[in-house]
Amino acid sequence: MVKPEVRALAAYTLRQYEYRYKLNQNENPFGYPEELKAKVLERVARADWARYPSFDLAELRAKLAEHAGVSPEMVLVGNGSNELIYVTLAATLSRGDHVIVPVPTFTLYALLSRVMGATVHDVLMDPADAFALPAGRVVEAARRTGAKVVVLCSPNNPTGTPYPAEAVRRVAAESDALVLVDEAYREFGGQDFVPLLDEFDNVVLLRTFSKAMAMGGLRVGYAIMRPELAREIHKAKLPYALNLFSEAAALVALEHFESHFLPLIEAIVAERERLFRALQALPGLHVYPSSANFLLVRLEGRPAREVFGALVHEHGILVRDVGGYPGLAEHLRISVGTREENDALIRALRALV
Ligand code: PMP
Repeated sequence: MVKPEVRALAAYTLRQYEYRYKLNQNENPFGYPEELKAKVLERVARADWARYPSFDLAELRAKLAEHAGVSPEMVLVGNGSNELIYVTLAATLSRGDHVIVPVPTFTLYALLSRVMGATVHDVLMDPADAFALPAGRVVEAARRTGAKVVVLCSPNNPTGTPYPAEAVRRVAAESDALVLVDEAYREFGGQDFVPLLDEFDNVVLLRTFSKAMAMGGLRVGYAIMRPELAREIHKAKLPYALNLFSEAAALVALEHFESHFLPLIEAIVAERERLFRALQALPGLHVYPSSANFLLVRLEGRPAREVFGALVHEHGILVRDVGGYPGLAEHLRISVGTREENDALIRALRALV
C-alpha cells in the first residue's frame, strides 16, 4: 500500500531528553511577550469557535504584505513554513523529477521531495569556503538534471551562513527550476531577497513565525512569490490550515513587531556575538560565524557525541548533534539562549573541551 519511496525513508524524528536549558531547536528564548498574550486571548475569546476561520486570511495577508513590502496577492499563509514547503513541492514535483539541495542544510526538503517521488541531488558546501553557496555548481546540477526545484536556505540551517542576493539571483536566472528560498532565520541577519521577485517569476521566499516571532508552538509560516505563481500553489493547500488562535497571535505580533519583537531580536543577535567570542576563546573547539540565532561548532579535542551527552546529562543543556549531516562529523549546533543560558553553556563547554 505504501509507496516504495516512502518505505525507503528514515523518519524525521527528534529524541526526547531531560534538560534544564533548551538550546536545540533555534527557538526564541524570551518567548511571546506576556502582555501580547493577553491581547491574543482577548481576541480569541471574542471569536466564534464554532465557525471556520477566515477563508482567505485577508487581514493577515494584508498585514504580512505590508510587513514584507509586497502586495497581498503575493502572500500565502501556512500552518508553519513546513506546510508551505510541503505544498510548494506537492504543486511542482511529480515522480521522477529532480531536486537540487546544497548541503548540509535542513533535512525536510529532501525528505518531502522523496515523498513526492523526486530524486534529490546534494551539492556539498565546503567549510574551508565558509559554507558559501556554490552557485555555479548548483546551476550546473540543475541544468544537467533538468531539475524542477532548487532549495536554498539563507541564513542556512545548520551552518548559519547567509547567501548573497547575487548568488541566489544567479541560480534563479540560470536554472529553469523553481527556486525555493527558505528565510526562516532572516530576522537575525542576511539579505532581503524581495527585490528578486520583481525580476523572477520562479522564486518563492519562505518565512516563519517560529523563530524570531516566538511562535513555534502556534505554527504560522508564509510564502511570498509572484501573484500568478501564488494562485497556482494555493490550489495544493488544505483549506483552513491556519486556526483562528494562531491567526490572532500572528496579527498581534505583526502589530507589535517594532515595539516588542525587534528588541528581542536585537538582544538575541547581541548574545550570539557574545557567545561567538566566548566560544572562539575556548581551545578544542572551532566556532563558525553565524547570521542566524544559533552557532555551529566543531569539536577538535573530544568526540562531539560525548560532549553532547555530557552537556545534557551532567549540565542539563540540550543542544543538537548534527554529526549525521553531510560534512559535519564532530559538529554540534547550539541555539542562542538568554544571557543566563548562554553563560551556563560557556561554563559547561569550558569544563568539557
Ligand atoms: N525552515 C528551516 C530552515 C528551519 O530550521 C525550520 C525549523 N526547524 C523550519 C523551516 C520549520 O519552521 P516552521 O516552524 O515554520 O514549520
